[in-house]
Amino acid sequence: MSYSAGLNVLEPQVINRERIQELINSFSSIGASENGSVSRRGFSDEDIYARNFFMKTLKDLGLKIRIDTAGNIIARLDGHDNNLPPIVTGSHLDTVPKGGKYDGTLGVIAGIEIAFFLQENDIKLNRPLEIIVFADEESTMIGCKGFTGNLSVNEEDFITSNSRSIIENLSRIGGNWLEIKSAVRSKKDIFAFLELHVEQGKVLEDGGLDIGIVNGIVGQKRITVKVTGQANHAGTTPMSNRNDALLAASKIIVGIEQIAKTTSESAVATVGKLKLHPNAANVIPGEAVFTIDMRDLDEDVIGKMSLRIENLCSEIQEVTGCVVQIEPQFEVIPTKSCPKLVSSSFHESEKLGFKTGILPSKASHDSQEIGRICPMVMIFVPSRNGLSHSYKEYTSLDQCANGIEVLLNTIFSIDKNFLDKPLLI
Ligand SMILES: [Zn+2]
Repeated sequence: MSYSAGLNVLEPQVINRERIQELINSFSSIGASENGSVSRRGFSDEDIYARNFFMKTLKDLGLKIRIDTAGNIIARLDGHDNNLPPIVTGSHLDTVPKGGKYDGTLGVIAGIEIAFFLQENDIKLNRPLEIIVFADEESTMIGCKGFTGNLSVNEEDFITSNSRSIIENLSRIGGNWLEIKSAVRSKKDIFAFLELHVEQGKVLEDGGLDIGIVNGIVGQKRITVKVTGQANHAGTTPMSNRNDALLAASKIIVGIEQIAKTTSESAVATVGKLKLHPNAANVIPGEAVFTIDMRDLDEDVIGKMSLRIENLCSEIQEVTGCVVQIEPQFEVIPTKSCPKLVSSSFHESEKLGFKTGILPSKASHDSQEIGRICPMVMIFVPSRNGLSHSYKEYTSLDQCANGIEVLLNTIFSIDKNFLDKPLLI
């Protein structure tokens, strides 16, 4: 390995795998259950315990620690020129209920290990380095949204995973709702954001790849479709005289699969929730309500899919006589990674001898928000069998360490090569 910023280091050392394993063990013991799952909901006692462990570890190592008003923990290591915007890495420590050991936590552990590596080898980057734990990623995303300023001003819009308000929750972790605007940072405050994360999918494993460089995080559009027919007796109503809402909905659902497959190779569309009324074995369904979730890295592709689905709904309404109504739920625009960060991290990964691919992220992450205000890239390591949000989530120590090495070397590379050149979003 070459450490471009290793000014005082004659013999560069590799990262410490034993310590990485210890950190994985320490964090996964906080909120652990017997089957190996981890429950560390945002703002819970377990979340706070893990956050305190992070802060103590890096404070003892000599980093400056602060909590911003959005509840993000920011650990800062000085560079040669502390007036330069920092390189930032990090992820989240909160989990879904009965989640895994690696989702989010690996990106935080990577930051800790890199801080240890730099301090132990007496390496100072040109730029300051910030390691951030973003608050409540799995639920409200208050941390990353507070960081970018892209959040609702109405506290009731934040549905928390406990019964407490966002105001109370934020104060539990050292944030402050009333001052939340002071957490906002802009492009000039951050040079680049890099997040190491487990893939939570099977692309890397199926492709025999060690590392994935994420070229963007897909956008998402969610709509609800309500099909209204006529509930009637399942025995006495002849087949020729029915207004079956489920049958009409089924025709739409079958069409959605074709639309997703033919709009773009990468597009996905899912009907994941369906409710029938009256939902009885001996009654023709009078109403079917279902959701459609559409995702792609290209906003235009999502737009095209959405339009084709709307046209299909009108067609089915005409053919079946059922009334089909569409209600938009929400829309998230895609976040593209910074091309220069993608090529730098790809290059560093290949230099380390890892089989490397480029792929989009189809799940949302803190990077999705942070990438809206500054150059961003994510580095993925494989998830065994593509499983995540489960006690079965597993990434081997070697795979975790590979990701940390790529992250470290990319940080060195951009710290050296982009000292007086901008990275563009
Ligand atoms: Zn995550």
